Amino acid sequence: MRKAIVAGNWKMNGNRESITQLMEALVAELNGLDAVETLVCPPAVYLSQVKGLIGNASIALGAQNASQFESGAYTGENSPVMLKDLGCEYVILGHSERRAIFGETDQEIAEKFKAALENQLVPVLCVGETLEQREAGDTMVVVGSQLRAVLDACGVESFKQAVVAYEPVWAIGTGKTATPEQAQEVHEAVRAIVAEYSAEVASGLRILYGGSVNAVNAAELFANPDVDGGLVGGASLKPNDFIAICRAAAEA
Ligand code: PEP
Repeated sequence: MRKAIVAGNWKMNGNRESITQLMEALVAELNGLDAVETLVCPPAVYLSQVKGLIGNASIALGAQNASQFESGAYTGENSPVMLKDLGCEYVILGHSERRAIFGETDQEIAEKFKAALENQLVPVLCVGETLEQREAGDTMVVVGSQLRAVLDACGVESFKQAVVAYEPVWAIGTGKTATPEQAQEVHEAVRAIVAEYSAEVASGLRILYGGSVNAVNAAELFANPDVDGGLVGGASLKPNDFIAICRAAAEA
């Protein structure tokens, strides 16, 4: 039985005051919601503040990115060692914004994935196709090659300690959600690719859906057998919406 995860990717949003308000609401409503793992991923500069606001509540902390390097002359980077030191348990890697805007390659993402695991951080590996790629019928070519790049570089056993997020690029921040059928189709195919390497790892792997998840569409997305929760952007900044999405995952 795979335990669902709902992760909030706050992207580059918030300030000390808004983050305090958001976290106070989340701690009050999500602490003790044991049927789902809840995770918040604030901007790196606010990780310590959020860790303090979580206190002993059952909400995990994650980063939105991590360097493949542990320390040294890498100006502006955030080391996985340091993220662990701040109390992070998870790290989002290979988000489509990192791939498209900052030019991250599959190879760099695989290096970051390896470095995260070496520092006991659980990578949330994002994969997904653009609209053009979907319309060309290339969804699984793209998603498969993003996934295999990490499977081949790091080994399937490493996926025992990782999470995959299927995030169609055309659905991120656009208000266009994949239908439950579209999501299930890709999630099933992702699990089948991992199963080519190890059926055991595939059956235990949590695969999250991301792309305009909201309080209204969450339940029907999470009802799919291969959808093990969500990676939520915009709606994770709205406490009532994020709480409703977490509850939908707990009830799925
Ligand atoms: C994301 O940034 O990972 C995301 C899925 O964003 P949104 O929910 O806003 O589409």
